[in-house]
Amino acid sequence: MSQPTVLERLEILADAAKYDASCASSGTSKRNSKGGKGIGSTEGMGICHAYAPDGRCISLLKILLTNHCVFDCHYCVNRKSSNVRRARFTPQEVVDLTLAFYRRNYIEGLFLSSGIVKSGDHTMEQLIEVARILREEHDFRGYIHLKTIPEADAELVARAGLYADRVSINVELPTVAGLTRLAPDKSAPRIEGAMTTIRSAIVESKDARKRFRNAPKFAPAGQSTQMIVGADAASDADIVGRAGALYDRFGLRRVYYSAFSPIPDASAVLPLQRPPLVREHRLYQSDWLIRFYGFTPAEVGQAADPGGMLPLDIDPKLAWALKFRDRFPVDVNRAPREALLRVPGLGVKAVNAIIAARRQRTLRLDDVARLTVSVVKLRPFIVTADWRPVLLTDRADLRPVVAPKAAQQLELFAA
Ligand code: SF4
Repeated sequence: MSQPTVLERLEILADAAKYDASCASSGTSKRNSKGGKGIGSTEGMGICHAYAPDGRCISLLKILLTNHCVFDCHYCVNRKSSNVRRARFTPQEVVDLTLAFYRRNYIEGLFLSSGIVKSGDHTMEQLIEVARILREEHDFRGYIHLKTIPEADAELVARAGLYADRVSINVELPTVAGLTRLAPDKSAPRIEGAMTTIRSAIVESKDARKRFRNAPKFAPAGQSTQMIVGADAASDADIVGRAGALYDRFGLRRVYYSAFSPIPDASAVLPLQRPPLVREHRLYQSDWLIRFYGFTPAEVGQAADPGGMLPLDIDPKLAWALKFRDRFPVDVNRAPREALLRVPGLGVKAVNAIIAARRQRTLRLDDVARLTVSVVKLRPFIVTADWRPVLLTDRADLRPVVAPKAAQQLELFAA
């Protein structure tokens, strides 16, 4: 059989990488090639970050080095026992593709992952080689996200961060039991050990750079991870709790969620259907509540039903507010920022605007209306100079009043 062309391999390996959601490029340090030095940029005119409607970054060349793999993770289309067409690139071929795409302005960087060939060490060395050639031989200043192989030697894991803006290791499943069942070759302690290595290297690099300006940077955009949703029995409360622990223990920049999608030739241990995509959306909203709205993972869990599942028809912030009515209404003219951030329909920008505006004058309902998408949905939860909900907040039938009509969900980040 003839060797597939570069284009055919690109098709196979780009398609094989699409299941990984952890590729957003936010948060790295600024570098550019102004003044004719080097090539590429992580910022600036003409380079834009494009996000798909589900929040995934789409402006990176996102490929696998190879989809051959010696592991047999049940949920993965590239697993050893899968019948997919296989392909592989050499490190130099990935470098050539990245530079060619970059020069045509198709991409702003590279997201590179790989199946495991021969061993974790061998695979990690190949991934690092791509980043090394780009940085050292081509002075590439664009964004690089390297997927890190937890089974690789800690020294290799640490080397990856010297070239990459961001490194990531997927925890894959929210629970250790799920990982053991669905990814029998993987080990939770190894994954967490590699994440610890990366965290330590990031902290050490930051400390060193405070003392020595030229100390090498280590993964300036930090580390991230991904969890597959819906492939095992973990509830939303389990997932949010696990994400909270990961943020705390490993200083992660982001936890990404990927709704499990049934794959060709699926293993019998997997569910036949993918979870509703809106479940993934609710988990991302929960993630924002924790990162920007002052909620703890346990509080997000309180918005869930007795089985630990968040409602799909309303966002978790509204679900929480409906359960904890005693925390409302909140007086927009007096309440502290934390209390305002709990009001469904008030986003961070709106809260900041309210706090700035109320220094100048007493706010009325119309003032708040100008800052939000729908003041009707907001009214049960706030007090203004000319508005008090009286019994509205405690109405038994409040949920249908404030719940969005089918497609127009009350946006968590409105305004
Ligand atoms: S290690 Fe598991 S998840 Fe990664 S490519 Fe191999 S089979 Fe897929």
